[in-house]
Amino acid sequence: MDLNYPAEAETFRVEIRQWLEDNLPDGWFDEGFELSPAARAAFNEQWTKTLFEGGWICATWPTEYGGKGLSTMEAVVLNEEFAKAGAPMRADFFGDTLVGPTILQWGTEEQKQFFLPKILSGEIAWCQGFSEPDAGSDLANLNTKAVLDGDEWVINGQKIWTTQGFVADYIFILCRTDPEASKHKGISYLLAPMKQPGVEVRPIEQVDGSAEFCEVFFTDARCPKDNVVGGLNNGWNVAMTTLGFERGTSATTGYRRFEKELDIIIAAAKANGAIDDPLIRQRIAWAHSNIQIMRVNGLRSLTAVVQNRKDPSITALGLTNKMFWSEYHQRVMELAMDVLGMESQLLTGDTSREEAVPGYGLRTANPKYPASPLQSSFFFSRSETIWGGTAQIQRNIVGERFLGLAKEPKVEAKK
Ligand SMILES: Cc1cc2nc3c(=O)[nH]c(=O)nc-3n(C[C@H](O)[C@H](O)[C@H](O)COP(=O)(O)OP(=O)(O)OC[C@H]3O[C@@H](n4cnc5c(N)ncnc54)[C@H](O)[C@@H]3O)c2cc1C
Repeated sequence: MDLNYPAEAETFRVEIRQWLEDNLPDGWFDEGFELSPAARAAFNEQWTKTLFEGGWICATWPTEYGGKGLSTMEAVVLNEEFAKAGAPMRADFFGDTLVGPTILQWGTEEQKQFFLPKILSGEIAWCQGFSEPDAGSDLANLNTKAVLDGDEWVINGQKIWTTQGFVADYIFILCRTDPEASKHKGISYLLAPMKQPGVEVRPIEQVDGSAEFCEVFFTDARCPKDNVVGGLNNGWNVAMTTLGFERGTSATTGYRRFEKELDIIIAAAKANGAIDDPLIRQRIAWAHSNIQIMRVNGLRSLTAVVQNRKDPSITALGLTNKMFWSEYHQRVMELAMDVLGMESQLLTGDTSREEAVPGYGLRTANPKYPASPLQSSFFFSRSETIWGGTAQIQRNIVGERFLGLAKEPKVEAKK
């Protein structure tokens, strides 16, 4: 592992820092800086435009599609400086992180020209249509069908757990396009418009009153024939690329949210005296060590990328990364609830102003269930070992594809 950044990376760092100082609101770096909800909404809107003009949204994308063509090292420095400044790096998770990079890798020239600039400008919002009631971990079991009718695909079926389905303009959706083919073949990856009569979106309300997930029903919904990504019946391979992006995380900055969160937990422990409990102190030390492991592993992965090395240990880090941080997070949030003690049972979130939930940005507590930032983080952590493929499935992948263990027996569902 090389702990030194090349000289040109440090020059770029200075450029980014200067840009942030020039463009963030006055007072941003001062202790106790706060924006009212209205001022924050105005800032967010303007900030997206400023970032877009600066070319910092998806800045690694090639210049011909509106990116800046940054190298990996430059992208790392960019992420680090934004994270240090606490400046939002607009990430429409589904567009910037999942479908955009997938289109870059697999899309036709027409798809790149049409979709990528609209992802950068925020003109198109996306959702992910993979899971179905009978196809979660066993994704290849999906049943939603698309049948060609002239110049359009006609889609029928149901998706579930579709995050942001109610705001999305487009869905990247897996459909069975060859029912005769075996399970993993005969699937295509389509880019289908959401705002049309054949698409019905039903949000699912959760315990805290929020409803970010949806059920989405397709009844003769239409999708242009040319919106197949990566070729007809090749959707499984394309989907694996998207899932790879979903399970990956920014190697050198991923640990920072946990560092900030642990500071909040330690402050709470000092405030209520829990810090005097030796077992609590031991668990805090455990959390600190794990954050350092994530930091160092990030640097190991970065060194390998920069030196173009493909050691087995680096592959292993990539495969175990999401499992490691998501399971860490559940344990540390249990620690946070123990630190709060009986107070963790009271909903103490502020419904009048935004509070920072590390890793999830600023949130105003939902009046129906006003969870505090630590309580919200506790709830979020429960879902992190599930989305993007569960921790158990990750272990199967490590066992079968990396350690070469025997494949798990497949049990065919009874028809
Ligand atoms: C916060 C969140 C957001 C999500 N957003 C989206 C989205 O936008 N779009 C989308 O398409 N999906 C989304 N999902 C769905 C997610 O991808 C699925 O929940 C996940 O793939 C698991 O599928 P399942 O819920 O059907 O669980 P199941 O597959 O039924 O699994 C149930 C349990 O059995 C275990 N299990 C299953 N098979 C095996 C096996 N072979 N070996 C060992 N253990 C096994 C699992 O690990 C799990 O513990 C989201 C989920 C969450 C929690």
